[in-house]
This record gives sequence, structure tokens and C-alpha cells, in this order.
Amino acid sequence: MPKRLLILGATGSIGRQALDVVERSEGLAVVGLAAERSWAALLELAASFGVSAIALADADAAARAAESWTAGRVHSGAAGLVELIEATEPDLVLNALVGAAGLGPTVATLGESIDLALANKESLVVGGELVGALAEATGARIIPVDSEHSALHQLLAGEAHAGAQSAAPPRAGTVRRLVLTASGGPFRGRLRAQLAEVGVEQALAHPTWSMGGKITVDSATLMNKGLEVIEAHHLFGVPYERIAVLVHPQSIVHALIDLCDGATLAHLGYPDMRVPISYALHYPERGALPVRTLDLVEVGRLDFEAPDEEAFPCLRLAREAALAGGSGPCVLNAANEVAVHAFLEGALGFLAIDAVIAQTLERAGAEPVHSFEDLYAADHRARALAREAVLALA
Ligand code: NAD
Ligand code: MG
Repeated sequence: MPKRLLILGATGSIGRQALDVVERSEGLAVVGLAAERSWAALLELAASFGVSAIALADADAAARAAESWTAGRVHSGAAGLVELIEATEPDLVLNALVGAAGLGPTVATLGESIDLALANKESLVVGGELVGALAEATGARIIPVDSEHSALHQLLAGEAHAGAQSAAPPRAGTVRRLVLTASGGPFRGRLRAQLAEVGVEQALAHPTWSMGGKITVDSATLMNKGLEVIEAHHLFGVPYERIAVLVHPQSIVHALIDLCDGATLAHLGYPDMRVPISYALHYPERGALPVRTLDLVEVGRLDFEAPDEEAFPCLRLAREAALAGGSGPCVLNAANEVAVHAFLEGALGFLAIDAVIAQTLERAGAEPVHSFEDLYAADHRARALAREAVLALA
């Protein structure tokens, strides 16, 4: 029996690479696809993968798709994504949406006891505690797609007494420290003053990874690594002071773990997201992929340096919000989404991104969170405050 796979965010960078992995794999059957508004592209993908149920978050796009498609069912709106999860009865959902919009589908998937291949790191940043508790309650597994976290998942599997196949994520009993690597982005090595004039095109020119726009800007500000520290904390249950960030411009070493006996284990490979995607889609098996085996003679050298939190304060802001807890990470994420969006529209300078986030965190504070409703309210309020900050700083 093939594994029934539902892909949310199918038209994006991760979604399309996942479909490439599916095409090269045996044992994976796509049963549903979803996107925000690119309905024509989604219908094309549905036709080539023989899919008869899709969802579009944008209601107009969903209506256009429904008019021109007779081969299946079109679900509409944010609720349509949740309907699609329930209607297609998948064994595994790949959440490759971008932003806090991914939280609802993450909750719906885990709530239905369905395993989740998670690219949408924002789900865990915004709702880590509640999402983790939900997975534990229903027994659904969260298998990370983010390359560093996939690397950690693989490294920790050998250390976990629970065993790699248990529903619980690997726990880090023998582990002293997790280390996430960061390429440093296109502006690595620059002083803060040298970042004042950088534009959208330069921020989108990532040196080692080709990704969607939002995460590429997050990589340029180092917010991506801040979000990933929070993601790692929730996935692996490791306290923040034992999660380190190491800048490594070649993106060959994806993560390391320091163990209690002085050994350090690393996960290496050429930067290619299909590798962690394939790991998540096939887990606990492995699927063969026609990617090059790492040739360290060809690579020649690997460099490492400490992150520059002076030039890139987003990493520090993320750690502060994480330690504040409660709604802090949710506010951080919402402010970042608003600021990055404004930067991509040309309405905000690069250096104002962290200023918007800092001001929003200061004004919103960190409130206790008891329910997903609390998070949606905090997200809503933070976005309004961040929009005010954008107008003031633009
Ligand atoms: P992308 O912008 O290329 O694609 C996003 C996809 O989500 C598109 O299909 C879009 O239609 C859909 N989408 C966006 N907003 C939506 C909404 N409100 N409702 C429904 N669908 C919506 O993004 P990406 O680069 O593929 O990133 C996806 C996620 O994976 C992000 O959380 C990102 O941080 C994470 N991630 C990406 C990479 C990468 O290499 N691209 C690496 C690691 C982690
Ligand atoms: Mg990553």
C-alpha cells in the first residue's frame, strides 16, 4: 500500500521539490494539493499527479479553479485546507505553507492523529508548546523538513532511548548541546552601517540555497536562524541555553550535536532540500535519491565563525522573545512577517526590519497563552502594532 501524501503549499519552493521527490520514489501517492491563490499552477500539478481534491486559501482563486475543473473537488478558504485534510484521509501531511497561516493546518493534522512532515517552522515558533502537547496527546509524529532540524533528527535518533520509530521525537538525554549552522546569508561579514542601503534584489540573492522570498529575507537578517532555534527547542525538548548557532558559509555541515562524553557528531551533505524532504516523506524508511555523494576533496575547506549579533540583531530578538515565552514568539513572528512583507514591497528599509520587530515586542509584551485562540488574538494584535511601526519607520 503506498503512503497517502497531502501537500500543503504545493506550488512553492518546498512543495515543488517534494513533488520531484515523489516522482522519483516508489510508495508515495499524492492524494491532495493546496496553495494560496495560484490556481492554474495547482490544477496543472493536480492533473500530472492524478489528484482529485485540491484547496485554495484564496476564495476567488478557488472559485476560478472550480469553474474550469471538472476532474475533482475544490475546497475554498483557510477552512478549505482543513476540509482537505479531513476529506483525503492522508497518512502524512507535508505542511509547506509560509508563515503563521500554517498553524491551523498543523493543528488540524495533528488533531486528526495524522503524521506531519513540517517545513512550516512558523507553526512551531508561534504555538510550539500547544502543538507539542497536541502531538503527544494524539500520538501523531512531527518529522522536520528544515535541513538543520532534519539533520538533528537523524543525529539524535542514534541517541534516543525511545528509539527512532516511536511516536515521541528523539529526546536529548545524552546530548550537551545542539548546534544549528547558518550560511550567514548574502550580507555575511558586513557591518551594520554597510547594510543601510541594501535592496530587495540583494537580499534575495542567497549564496547557497534557492528558496521562497520570505525565508530568503529571513536568512539575510538571520531571523531565520532565530526562528530555527525556537523550532529546535520545541522539536527536541532542549533548553535554549543548550542550542547554539554557528555560521558556516558553505552550508555543507547542517547541524552538530555535542554529547556528554566529549564526542561531537555532525550531519553533512551538499545543500539540496530534496534530501531532508525525502527523509521526512519516507521516514522511518529511506528512499533513494539521485543526488551527488559529498566529495570533501572537491569542497576543499569548511569555514566556521560566530554570528554577528550586532549587525544582525534579529537572532538576539528571537532568543529574547523565546525566553520571555507565552505569546512572545508569536508576537516576534507576526512582526517579522509584517516587516518582511513591507521590505519586499519596497515600503521599508532593510535595517528597519529589526526595528519594527523590537518595537512590536516592546509594545505587545509577552502574555500567558492557554489556547490556540489566545495565539490567534496575539498574532492579530501584533500585526496591527507592527503595521503602525512600519508606517512610523518607513
Ligand atoms: P514559498 O513562498 O516558495 O511557497 C509557499 C507555498 O505556500 C505556496 O504554495 C503558496 O501558495 C502557499 N501559501 C502561502 N501562504 C498561504 C496561505 N495563507 N494559505 C495557503 N497557502 C499558502 O515558500 P517556501 O520557501 O517553499 O517555504 C515554505 C515553508 O518552508 C516556510 O515555512 C519556510 O520557512 C520553510 N522552509 C523552506 C525552505 C526552502 O528551501 N524553501 C527551507 C527550509 C524551510
Ligand atoms: Mg533551515
